[in-house]
Amino acid sequence: MKANEILARARQENRTILKEIEAKQLLMEAGINCMDTRLAPTKDAAVKLSEQFAYPVVLKISSVDITHKSDAGGVKVNVKNKAEVEDAFDAIMRSCKAAAPTARIEGVSVQRMAKPGIEVIMGMIKDPSFGPVIMFGLGGVFVEVLKDVAFRIVPIEKSDAGDMINEIKGKKLLEGYRGQEPADVVYLQQMLLKLSDFVNTTTEIEEIDMNPVFAYKDGAVVVDARIILSAA
Ligand code: ADP
Ligand code: MG
Repeated sequence: MKANEILARARQENRTILKEIEAKQLLMEAGINCMDTRLAPTKDAAVKLSEQFAYPVVLKISSVDITHKSDAGGVKVNVKNKAEVEDAFDAIMRSCKAAAPTARIEGVSVQRMAKPGIEVIMGMIKDPSFGPVIMFGLGGVFVEVLKDVAFRIVPIEKSDAGDMINEIKGKKLLEGYRGQEPADVVYLQQMLLKLSDFVNTTTEIEEIDMNPVFAYKDGAVVVDARIILSAA
């Protein structure tokens, strides 16, 4: 589905929150590489999709009412065969129904397990005085505990993207640390530029959260994405 159709459908359904699959579709259209993620409304569909993708896969709850999926027990990673898909599907439904009894659940999303990389985050928030601001940081504990993130007002230029990556304190981790491969910093810069362009041309978006993005020696991929639209 095209970006404007996704936005129109959300508006029609009176939603300001996009589902992971919708958010990734919008970002893909903006040229940002995301894990191919598909909806499985039933357990059988989840098995079928998993076999099409090839194992291991990741199953996640798909619900407009559950945005923090792991908190609700809604994510199962490294699912390796048909029996594990069936178990993961049941476990996700059980925990999410317990955690959010009134949530509208449409099924699970299925995607391939991404190979391990350096976890980074990218996003956008709207600042009351500066307007849209994009953000870059290292994922996990770096953003949650250390708040090690860089911000720039949109639109950014190539040099800004480079500066954003350079100014985070954990930058050394992107250069390869204890045998880990370095991250493709040029590719990350290009992603930030695409994000800036996208935000600049799609004014009805209030917030974007790509967390995590896995960065590799060559390229990077968005593993989870959340988009919030502005109130109509
Ligand atoms: P949440 O809504 O809780 O943020 P995520 O989609 O980010 O859910 O999934 C939780 C965690 O599972 C991620 O931080 C990441 O470590 C892992 N994960 C999610 N999708 C994948 C994937 N396709 N490949 C590998 N790991 C993944
Ligand atoms: Mg996430």
